[in-house]
Amino acid sequence: MITADFHTHSYFSGDSDEPTLEMVKSAVQKGLKTLCITEHNDIDYPNNEFDLDAEKYKAELMRLKAEFSDKIELLFGVELGVMGYLADRLNGFIKDKGFDFIIASSHLVNGLDPYYPEYFEQFGTKNGILRYFESILENINKFTDFDVYGHLDYVVRYSPEKAYEPLDYREIIDEILKKLVGMGKGIEVNTAGLKTLGYVHPNGFILSRYRELGGEIVTVGSDAHDRTRVAADFDKAEEALKYAGFSYYTVFRQRKAEFVKL
Ligand SMILES: [Zn+2]
Ligand SMILES: [Zn+2]
Repeated sequence: MITADFHTHSYFSGDSDEPTLEMVKSAVQKGLKTLCITEHNDIDYPNNEFDLDAEKYKAELMRLKAEFSDKIELLFGVELGVMGYLADRLNGFIKDKGFDFIIASSHLVNGLDPYYPEYFEQFGTKNGILRYFESILENINKFTDFDVYGHLDYVVRYSPEKAYEPLDYREIIDEILKKLVGMGKGIEVNTAGLKTLGYVHPNGFILSRYRELGGEIVTVGSDAHDRTRVAADFDKAEEALKYAGFSYYTVFRQRKAEFVKL
């Protein structure tokens, strides 16, 4: 059983109203040993919807960490929305914050969020997906201070067909994965995809390919934005990991990877 959720949000994220306390209580109830909260910080998101008040967030998390220390291990993480040109500002944001864990994610492609229909209307399905992958490669060429790249094929959640053939994007996917492996960076299994797509992010092909290319670091996250989704579908994440040839998943403390047997 996977007992660490490494991708969760609470009310410090622009798209969640859930008190952090409720996320922690739910994690305890579900038998997790470790909960890493990873609030959003998306610099330059339209209307500053995802600007994080990191000090307030850290203060509350540290208070809960102490309060729950005999029940669960709480870790201080963040999910950064990355675009290549933000690299300096992201580095500035991270500096001296003392994060345990950093997810780099693509939520915007050149300022446009694939969540909104305009994205695929403008680019079409195939090109829209391709541009998303291309932007990831561009981002990791410019910004490197992260531990895992989040939900690698997130864009598919919002594509008109809600499905894609990873082999159509093999070249760019390989380039991304080779680069990540070379940098010693991980990816995640994100179970939020099961809600809309019926499979985890990323698709099994990408997970297997990362393993084939020598990748070893995979964290597991529900991407829960409320208490009900904490550790959701972790049995499916375990299945996906084993199927792709992994016998371990990864946790991070103070930015250092540790492997836990599946
Ligand atoms: Zn995300
Ligand atoms: Zn998230």
